[in-house]
Amino acid sequence: MGATTMMEVGLGTGAAMRYCFQPDVETLPRERLADLQLERLRATVRNAYDNVPFHRARLQKSGATPDDIRSLDAVRRMPFTLKSDLRDHYPFGLFARPVNALARLHASSGTTGKPTVVGYTPDDLTTWAELMARSMACAGARPGDIVHNAYGYGLFTGGLGAHYGAERLGAVVVPMSGGSTERQVALIVDFGARVLCATPSYALAIAEVAEKQGVDLRQSALKVGLFGAEPWSDAMRREIEARLGLSAVDIYGLSEIMGPGVACECECKAGLHGWEDHFLFEVIDPDSGEAVPEGQLGELVITTLTKQALPMLRYRTRDITKVTTTPCECGRTHLRILRITGRNDDMLIIRGVNVYPSQVEAVLVGLPDIAPHYQLVVERRGSLDAVTVEVEAQPGTEPHVYDRIAQRVAHHIKSLIGITADVEVKQPGEIPRSQGKAVRVRDLRPKAN
Ligand SMILES: [Zn+2]
Repeated sequence: MGATTMMEVGLGTGAAMRYCFQPDVETLPRERLADLQLERLRATVRNAYDNVPFHRARLQKSGATPDDIRSLDAVRRMPFTLKSDLRDHYPFGLFARPVNALARLHASSGTTGKPTVVGYTPDDLTTWAELMARSMACAGARPGDIVHNAYGYGLFTGGLGAHYGAERLGAVVVPMSGGSTERQVALIVDFGARVLCATPSYALAIAEVAEKQGVDLRQSALKVGLFGAEPWSDAMRREIEARLGLSAVDIYGLSEIMGPGVACECECKAGLHGWEDHFLFEVIDPDSGEAVPEGQLGELVITTLTKQALPMLRYRTRDITKVTTTPCECGRTHLRILRITGRNDDMLIIRGVNVYPSQVEAVLVGLPDIAPHYQLVVERRGSLDAVTVEVEAQPGTEPHVYDRIAQRVAHHIKSLIGITADVEVKQPGEIPRSQGKAVRVRDLRPKAN
C-alpha cells in the first residue's frame, strides 16, 4: 500500500490537521466571509429596523437605515447597544418577534435591578446548537464522546447551550449541572467522560474534591475541557490541565449575543476563533467609541448577523481584548480573539493602577504553598482604595509559616503587577467554592448614589 491519504474531514496538513464540524464555512476564504457578512448585516439591520421600534428610531437618527448599508464599514455609523438598553426595555422590548413565536427564553440575574431577558426562535436555537457543536469540535471533542456537562442548567445559558451543542455534535451528554461535586467525580470516572464542560473555577473544585477522595482524575478518560463564563488566566489553565489530565480550552459567549459558543479556542490555543459567519466583531476604544487598529487592546463589540428573535446591533460587551485575522495553524479562517483579560466592569483602579482579578490570579496560581482559590477585597481607606488579597494555604502547610507566605505573595504581586496589596493567608477550604461563576472580588467601597 502507498502512503496513507488524508481523506477524513480535516484541515491543514500533517500535525496541524484537525477535525472540523462544518469544514466548508470554517475555512471560507476571508473575502467570501466578508461578502456573507455584508449580506447578513443588511438582513439583520432590516429585521431590527422593521420590527424593533427602539432600533428603528436610533437608526433613522444616525443615518444608517437598511438601505444605507453598502459596506461592512457602515456598521460604524450605527449606535451602540448597551446592557442597560435591554434592562430599560424589560422584558421583551428589544425582541423582533412576538414572544409567542419564540421557542425559549433565558435570563441573566443582574447584580442590580432587573434581569436581562433574551429570546430565541426555533431557527435561533438551531444556529446556537450548531455553533456550540462547532466550538466543541474545535476544542477537540468528537462525535461519540461522553460529555460531562457541569454548567448550571436553567435560566443561565451555559447548561442548555453546551447540552444541545454536544447532542448536535453527535456526542453523548451527561446533563449533570452544577453542585453535588462528589457525585460529579464518581460519574466522570464511572461513565468514562472524555469531555468536561464547566466554569474554570468549578473545574478546580472538582479536581480538589477528587483529590480529597483519593481519585486520580488524570487516570480517567478525560481528555478535553471546555471552560468559560468567567475570565481565567493561562496559569490557571496549566493548573487545571495538570490536575485533571486534560487539554483545557477557553470558550466565550454571552447571553445577550447568544450564549456560549460565540468564540472558542482551537487545539492550537492561540486565541478564540470568533464565528464570523454569524457575528460581526469590532474592537473599539472604550472611551471614544472609535475603532482601534487590529492587534490593539480595546473593548469587544459584537453585532449578530443571523439572530431572528433578538438582533443585536453593536453590543458593547465590556470585555477588553484584541483580535487578529492572521491565519491560524488549524486552517480555520475566522478571526481570533485573544483570551479576555477581564471585563471592564471588573477592572479595579488601585491607587491609579488598572488591575483585573485575572492578573492577580496569574501571579497566585503556581506559587508554592498556596491553593488556587482567592478573593480580592477592595475597601476605601481614607481617600484611597486598598486591596486585600485573600489566598488559601495548601493542605498540610504549617500555620506558623502563613506570615512568610503572605509576605512572599505580596512581593510577587508588587513586582509583577505593580500594586501594593495586603495578603491574608486563610486555612484550606476557607475561601468559598463556586458551583458556577466564581466571585473574585468583594467590593466594600461605599456605593456612589
Ligand atoms: Zn485555529
